[in-house]
Amino acid sequence: MTLTFDIKPTTNPTSDQERAAKLANPGFGRVFTDHMAVVQYSQDKGWHSARVESRANFPLDPAAAVLHYAQEIFEGLKAYKRDDGDVNLFRPDANAQRFWNSADRMAMAQLPQNVFIEAVEQLVRIDRAWIPGGEGSLYLRPFMIANEVFLGVKPSAEYIFAVIASPVGSYFKGGPAPVSIWVSENYTRAAVGGTGGVKCGGNYAASLKAQAEAIAHGCDQVVFLDAIERRYVEELGGMNVFFVFADGSLSTPPLGTILPGITRDSIIKLARDAGREVREEAYSIDQWRADAASGKLKEAFACGTAAVISPIGKVRSVSGDVVINGGEAGPVAMGLRKQLVDIQYGRAADPHNWIRDVK
Ligand SMILES: *Cc1c(COP(=O)(O)O)cnc(C)c1O
Repeated sequence: MTLTFDIKPTTNPTSDQERAAKLANPGFGRVFTDHMAVVQYSQDKGWHSARVESRANFPLDPAAAVLHYAQEIFEGLKAYKRDDGDVNLFRPDANAQRFWNSADRMAMAQLPQNVFIEAVEQLVRIDRAWIPGGEGSLYLRPFMIANEVFLGVKPSAEYIFAVIASPVGSYFKGGPAPVSIWVSENYTRAAVGGTGGVKCGGNYAASLKAQAEAIAHGCDQVVFLDAIERRYVEELGGMNVFFVFADGSLSTPPLGTILPGITRDSIIKLARDAGREVREEAYSIDQWRADAASGKLKEAFACGTAAVISPIGKVRSVSGDVVINGGEAGPVAMGLRKQLVDIQYGRAADPHNWIRDVK
């Protein structure tokens, strides 16, 4: 299916001076560009009214389905400014595919994947002046909400798909600092047959209490265990997790109830390219403790689009603390991180064809 986007540049653009001030210290997720891409869906018309326009509020009826039954999904990807001035997207086709799968699970209209990519590219083109240089990037947030005006419980007949963009600095100033994580024993994130494998806002709403508990215990992030045996490591609130062993192999929890991260998938491929064994297998919190104590486990790290790779320095739970790699970032995590970031910024070869050059 092809849709032609109506491009309507804002009549009130941010001045160069104001934009430069915002880009000097963007932080994460509070600064936004001038435009947004929008595509609407209704059962009668299908996908229609594709456009890029001034970023603005949505008119939303108080009875819009999303406000009551949380039919909402989203994605996250980045645009990177290359040294030669071109702009790279990293695996946007994988985000489009995952968005399609998320819509299916949430009984929402499925956006054709070429339209998803086109919306992202059009927004990057019109707001390319907002892409920070150096180690910064433009974080892109495609999302979709159910907006049928009806209080009955059923899949909405109308949807709004939109993409907004937010310039972000390097996630870590001066290299990634190891994070401490709190093992959630009171809360789980996902059960078999639930929505843990798709990117819906509701998963995050359900994780906030556990994340608050982590912070109350002096930790940066929460790690969830499986909902059946309360033993097997699943993932952090918004990042997947990897383990690095003394024999050079890696392991990561298998797909199913965890979110199928694109960073996770890319790391598996890069590590295998380098000749490492990577197992997708269940790993229990008790094994984690035992392997850290025996020296079999060398490193652990979390991964996702926002932070790429964050070394895990400490695991804290009601049964005490376990320190990983002396609380320091390990060489395997840092090596994979550099490899991935170099591909994303176009500084290294791209053997898997992950980069999409936005002209
Ligand atoms: C988005 C997300 C991730 C990471 O996915 P990437 O595609 O690597 O950014 C991991 N876990 C959860 C719960 C997520 O929502």
